Amino acid sequence: MNSEKIKNSLNISPAIRVGVLGFGGLGQAAAKVVAGKQEMILVAAADHKGYAYAADGLNTEESIAIYQSQGSVGYLEPIGTLTNQSIQDLIEIAEVDGYFLALPNLPNDFIPTVAKEFIKSGWRGVLVDAIKRTTAVEQLLAMKEELEAAGITYMTGCGATPGLLTAAAALAAQSYAEIHHVEITFGVGIANWEAYRATVREDIGHIPGYTVEIARAMTDAEVEALLDKTNGVLTLTNMEHADDVMLEIAGIVGRDRVTVGGVVDTRNPKKPLSTNVKVTGRTFEGKISTHTFTLGDETSMAANVCGPAFGYLKAGRQLHQRGIYGIFTAAEIMPQFVK
Ligand code: NAD
Repeated sequence: MNSEKIKNSLNISPAIRVGVLGFGGLGQAAAKVVAGKQEMILVAAADHKGYAYAADGLNTEESIAIYQSQGSVGYLEPIGTLTNQSIQDLIEIAEVDGYFLALPNLPNDFIPTVAKEFIKSGWRGVLVDAIKRTTAVEQLLAMKEELEAAGITYMTGCGATPGLLTAAAALAAQSYAEIHHVEITFGVGIANWEAYRATVREDIGHIPGYTVEIARAMTDAEVEALLDKTNGVLTLTNMEHADDVMLEIAGIVGRDRVTVGGVVDTRNPKKPLSTNVKVTGRTFEGKISTHTFTLGDETSMAANVCGPAFGYLKAGRQLHQRGIYGIFTAAEIMPQFVK
């Protein structure tokens, strides 16, 4: 399949060489998404304990199997390497056009720190994250000039929310002369929390009485005890979500008019509610109306995060090839569909 991809690409333009940093729930889903694409080839993956790199493409099934059985893609023979600085080591040796950062943002400046590593290394290319908190996106936005000078095109907030739903809000806003409210409500159903540990920990950080630091420090047993109390369900309201700052800097609506909340069921893959974004505004004729964009209930969190992430990676690649560097959000750029 991979050699076929390379052959096919010889006739058109070369497949985009992608890497996935973080090989947990979303990282593995990302590898599966890329496996079905002709325009992209997964050449690198990294986790906490190691990395794997193959210029002619990683075998997705083998990579996932080794991660699940041994805890790191670094055990993949002969292309894996075990190291406790997998990201730095991978940047040094790998030829990659763009990375999807499927990393936990714990602590809240972890992904900005990784971005700094890329800047320091002299690597040039596209970075995409699916980061969630407003304060984390703000840290990245503050790095605009450094990213520009480094020749990096960084696409931030490019998952589902922020990401797909923020972009949908930006599009829906076009009908209105004035936007009154953007309300995002998400429903996530996952069979077990261990498949998405970082996502669940970060969500716990939004519960009143908890913080990112408290959630980060919780042991797995403590997370389970908390989930036992709620029957596996986390209900989140008024979250600190970067959809607000993204829509604000895109000039669409002030951040105080953007609200995000949702329900996460960690014991049932069925969504507890339909994920949607409602955009209320006034048309030029003075009519108040609401556009609603609702995701299909059959689409998983992984599908709604990884699809957009690679769509934005492709868009970022086009910007990069035109010499446009710096940082862009999902509300400013249209994702490109990856064939
Ligand atoms: P996870 O816990 O399942 O996996 C995290 C992975 O990162 C693991 O493979 C781990 O080994 C690796 N990792 C941790 N520290 C590392 C390091 N220093 N170097 C290299 N690898 C390291 O995580 P997940 O549940 O897949 O979530 C990933 C991220 O996606 C989270 O930050 C989450 O908030 C985000 N997310 C975003 C959205 C969205 O819509 N925007 C939705 C869901 C999740």
